[in-house]
Amino acid sequence: MRKISNFQIVPEIIFGEGAASQLGSAAKKFGSRVLLVVDPAIVKAKLLEPLTAPLRSEGLRVFTFSDVEPEPWVETADEAGRIAREEKCDSVIGAGGGSAMDVAKAAAVLATNPGKASDYQGLDLVKKPGLAKIMVPTTAGTGSEVTFTSVLSRKKPKMKAGINGKYLFPEIAVLDPALTLTVPPLVTATTGMDALTHAIEAYTSLQASPMSDTTAREAIKLIGANLRTAVHEGENLTARSNMLLGSLLAGTAIANAGVGAVHALAYPLGGSFRVPHGTANGLLLSYVMQFNVSGCAEKYADVALLLGMSDNGDKPDILAGRAISAVTKLGEDIKIPRRLRELNIEEKYFPEMADSAMKVSRPLENNPRKVGKEEAIAIYAEAL
Ligand code: NAD
Repeated sequence: MRKISNFQIVPEIIFGEGAASQLGSAAKKFGSRVLLVVDPAIVKAKLLEPLTAPLRSEGLRVFTFSDVEPEPWVETADEAGRIAREEKCDSVIGAGGGSAMDVAKAAAVLATNPGKASDYQGLDLVKKPGLAKIMVPTTAGTGSEVTFTSVLSRKKPKMKAGINGKYLFPEIAVLDPALTLTVPPLVTATTGMDALTHAIEAYTSLQASPMSDTTAREAIKLIGANLRTAVHEGENLTARSNMLLGSLLAGTAIANAGVGAVHALAYPLGGSFRVPHGTANGLLLSYVMQFNVSGCAEKYADVALLLGMSDNGDKPDILAGRAISAVTKLGEDIKIPRRLRELNIEEKYFPEMADSAMKVSRPLENNPRKVGKEEAIAIYAEAL
């Protein structure tokens, strides 16, 4: 008998080339005043016009906030929230990578809830609904457009943590692959590996359900077949579109099944060393898979086939090994950092990193094999 599962999804998802043109009619549903939180790279890449023109043509008043840094600080979300509140905005649009979308999601709830972003890092601490949230991803990675999380960094103590809860779920996601064409090769590679990590961790999560498995499987297939092309031929709209669909599906999978030990071990890399989220996940993925393999060989065998490896009638543990080789080879082909030492992270930091990782409890609980402090240190050592 199947165990009871529940599956939640953002109510409206608009996907396809030119989808940004629908932003005006989407935002108008919630009122006439909009805070647009936008990644500075979007302004630099001259992509602001396709975002603001549809809003203006619907007669909306747009307030633009573009001071978003990668792995954003809680104070950045506080500032965006202040503007949304003072300008009496009805909705917040987040257009950019996960960093801009997460600032936008936090701003939307800070506009209606007292206090600061840091007061709400945790689970279900946000008590009142926020402003309407419309998310427009411009990297194919985080899936933040369909998750109930806003991940923000703190300086003291140095850490990253999510504001998690039902009021963080966006009302609308608008995905236009044309907005991802300008993402540079290395960011395409690391964000794409982030999406693949989401899909694989959701698929092997102890919270996985038939519905999350369906989206995770399709995501693995799409990312495996398109990430190399998206990195090496950035102008290839088909590959970009397939990657954006893959990251969307992977985001839907983690919103329901959660993530695993890769994320728990990656958090200290971001919190203490400011390593970008996708870089940290992409680096650790194959090492954590190697550790996990005895706990989920059958599912890794599926991953191997989804990544295009051949099935010669081999046993699951042989195929599972092929999934790890496929992930390793993909990382090499797209030239992501493969070793902690490349990021100047030394062995002496491992005990402290492992202590921080142990605090990321929910992903560890979802992981198909138990990871304690010793195991975490051993995985970091493999990745050194
Ligand atoms: P990012 O948003 O920091 O963007 C990476 C870089 O790409 C930035 O320099 C940005 O300016 C640039 N960029 C973005 N779009 C571009 C475009 N179209 N053209 C050119 N450059 C572009 O990176 P990310 O990986 O998308 O997001 C990372 C953040 O998201 C982290 O803080 C991470 O913790 C968080 N995250 C959130 C969730 C969630 O569910 N909320 C899930 C995973 C990760």
